[in-house]
Amino acid sequence: MSRKIAFVGLGIMGKPMAINLIKAGHDVTGFDLSQASIDAVVAAGGQGATSIAAAVKDADVVITMVPADPHVEAVILGEGGVLENVAAGTLVIDMSSITPQTSIKVGKAAREKGVRTLDAPVSGGEAGAVEAVLSIMVGGEAPDFAEAKPLFDVLGTTVIHVGPSGAGQTVKAANQLIVAVNIQALAEAVVFLENAGVDLPAALDVLGGGLAGSTVLNRKKANMINREFAPGFRIDLHHKDMGIVTDAARAVGAALPVGAVVAQLVASARANGDGSLDHSALLRGVERLSGR
Ligand code: NAD
Repeated sequence: MSRKIAFVGLGIMGKPMAINLIKAGHDVTGFDLSQASIDAVVAAGGQGATSIAAAVKDADVVITMVPADPHVEAVILGEGGVLENVAAGTLVIDMSSITPQTSIKVGKAAREKGVRTLDAPVSGGEAGAVEAVLSIMVGGEAPDFAEAKPLFDVLGTTVIHVGPSGAGQTVKAANQLIVAVNIQALAEAVVFLENAGVDLPAALDVLGGGLAGSTVLNRKKANMINREFAPGFRIDLHHKDMGIVTDAARAVGAALPVGAVVAQLVASARANGDGSLDHSALLRGVERLSGR
């Protein structure tokens, strides 16, 4: 069934996701602060809007994919935002990575207006968005998940309802912990192998076939070998996510000793001017610590 979808936030992730929904036959209207991103959606067969209000008018599903909590609050709860402009019964799906508390707050505010919400953050990076193979972790009511599942199936290949409102964000926070720790470990191995004079691509190929192999290793080894750090996933965003997971873990009494150290290393990367680079640039921090 073709749905009328408003898509707000057409960045590295949102743009290819919106385009995949268009390719699947949905009627998508895109809005972003960047006109070039709106133009890309129009070029792919969608429609462009000049405001959130115009984008969500008549939409039966609204998807948001913006950087962080303040953007989600502004876009959904703010003046001229989604809740002011959608009809009761609309399904609002926030796919940004934000705190579970903000997802719950947005869900409550929406419910007061008869609007349904899901938190549906994703993992898989830009490549996963382009190739429509994202993992999508969804919090919210089961009937709303069932309604949205055909749309999620367009965007990803692993789509799981993990619990009530906010639960998707809790799972995403765990995802970001695991990814950051893995990238840091890979970066340390790279600097170690180079200092030891081993052929790095050969070493990473063989490591990839054993227990050390991982999606992080496969996806990020070329960035590290070639020192190619165009994002991808910006260190600034991973810094935000490490804050989310350390706060959420403290709230439930879980210790994250390694995660806390890696959070500091992500903060240091940012303080050293690497915030707009891909998170594989954690390698640069290991190089600095190793006196390179
Ligand atoms: P991005 O910065 O490339 O895109 C965000 C977009 O939101 C931008 O185009 C920006 O103009 C737009 N935006 C911000 N405020 C807006 C507003 N008020 N109205 C309309 N548009 C607005 O970021 P991204 O990499 O696409 O990430 C988006 C979200 O997805 C983040 O929460 C991020 O943590 C998460 N995420 C990113 C990746 C990745 O690999 N890049 C992977 C998984 C999850």
